[in-house]
Amino acid sequence: MSEFTMELNDEQREVRDWIHGFAAEVMRPAAAEWDEREETPWPVIQEAAKIGLYSLDFYAQQFFDPTGLGIPMTMEELFWGDAGIGLSIVGTGLAAVGVLANGTEEQIGTWVPQMYGDAGDVKVAAFCSSEPDAGSDVAAMRTRAVYDEAKDEWVLNGTKTWATNGGIANVHVVVAVVDPEAGSKGHASFIIPPGTPGLSQGQKFKKHGIRASHTAEVVLENVRIPGHCLLGGKEKLDERLARARERARNGGTGASGSVKNAAMATFEASRPAVGAMAVGTARAAYEEALEYAKTRSQFGRPIIDNQGVAFQLADMRTQIDAARLLVWRASWMAVNGKPFTSAEGSMSKLYASEVAKKVTAQAVQIFGGNGFTREYPVERMHRDAAIYTIFEGTSEIQRLVIARTLSGMPIR
Ligand SMILES: Cc1cc2nc3c(=O)[nH]c(=O)nc-3n(C[C@H](O)[C@H](O)[C@H](O)COP(=O)(O)OP(=O)(O)OC[C@H]3O[C@@H](n4cnc5c(N)ncnc54)[C@H](O)[C@@H]3O)c2cc1C
Repeated sequence: MSEFTMELNDEQREVRDWIHGFAAEVMRPAAAEWDEREETPWPVIQEAAKIGLYSLDFYAQQFFDPTGLGIPMTMEELFWGDAGIGLSIVGTGLAAVGVLANGTEEQIGTWVPQMYGDAGDVKVAAFCSSEPDAGSDVAAMRTRAVYDEAKDEWVLNGTKTWATNGGIANVHVVVAVVDPEAGSKGHASFIIPPGTPGLSQGQKFKKHGIRASHTAEVVLENVRIPGHCLLGGKEKLDERLARARERARNGGTGASGSVKNAAMATFEASRPAVGAMAVGTARAAYEEALEYAKTRSQFGRPIIDNQGVAFQLADMRTQIDAARLLVWRASWMAVNGKPFTSAEGSMSKLYASEVAKKVTAQAVQIFGGNGFTREYPVERMHRDAAIYTIFEGTSEIQRLVIARTLSGMPIR
């Protein structure tokens, strides 16, 4: 186990500075253009792949960094560069985590490399859990996976929505219902290999922020996949379903208990990472606002000379640092196998995402009329920041998780 530390070591500092260089020199100058185009910034992803910043090796190294700081440090720097392009670069990671959380070693080795492709032919991946009627209420999921024993194939039908990289991904990870009686314990994750017939992209959403990131519906019509595409394997699934049924017989509901469902296992691991993205956007807006407040003059003096402005900046920076500490704590706990007994992962995501929304709004205010225009990046950062309190569990759902964990009560 690694001791908790608030300091990056020499190697981490070097990696951070390298990512920061890419964020400052490649991402930030391209951010406004891709935001307007509302398209996946393939050339930027390719640039990242060329230098090894978009690769399985790099993310695996950060993911398994025993200090827990590798992923939050990476996310913060990339999202400091730009949130929309940042999500285009790290969106594949959510699907990869879906496989790491639920798959066998063989499945990890087979599918995760195909999610990234290589520098000469980059690919992206998608994690598809949300549905039109199952957002916060994951248990309401309707996409069905039925086993065809004669052919050892699974047949999937349903509509997924809000999928980052949905329809343009090489590999899709889809969560579906295998046992409707078992609530969310009756869900399982599946790999949909490249080019599988029956999977198509539905509507692509025109969004408020992170517009360089592709978000779309994914339609599954009689999608047939080999039995080995069930993550974790059939034996493990059958054991899990038997345990859920046993619990239901003993008076519990199929939807409760200690066995995690497929989507939740993915989200739990990724929440501190989302918190780190929010810290990156917040820090970027704060830095812009600090600089502007020192250079913009009104009433014959820089606007930062007014406590009304300076104190806002003091609060912004304090909250950003507090958010980072919560994120680093949760990431360290996750990597070192410490259970989130007080929902520390949710705390970090909740706090950091709310801070990002507030800080970017304050940055717009400090920029005055200029902050309201697309001439200055804080306008985009403010729109981008709105996503953090919504995806991977809204702030309300994080509060629900925290309150339930702390109280042990079935708070609704
Ligand atoms: C840009 C973007 C990218 C996304 N990427 C992905 C992805 O890659 N894969 C994926 O599977 N999903 C993805 N999502 C989906 C995202 O996780 C959901 O939007 C989110 O979980 C909320 O679900 P919903 O939109 O259906 O809102 P709803 O669940 O309908 O919630 C609406 C409002 O009601 C509140 N609410 C709901 N239930 C409760 C309750 N019990 N108590 C208090 N308040 C409640 C919510 O907090 C929210 O404010 C993405 C979404 C967006 C916008």
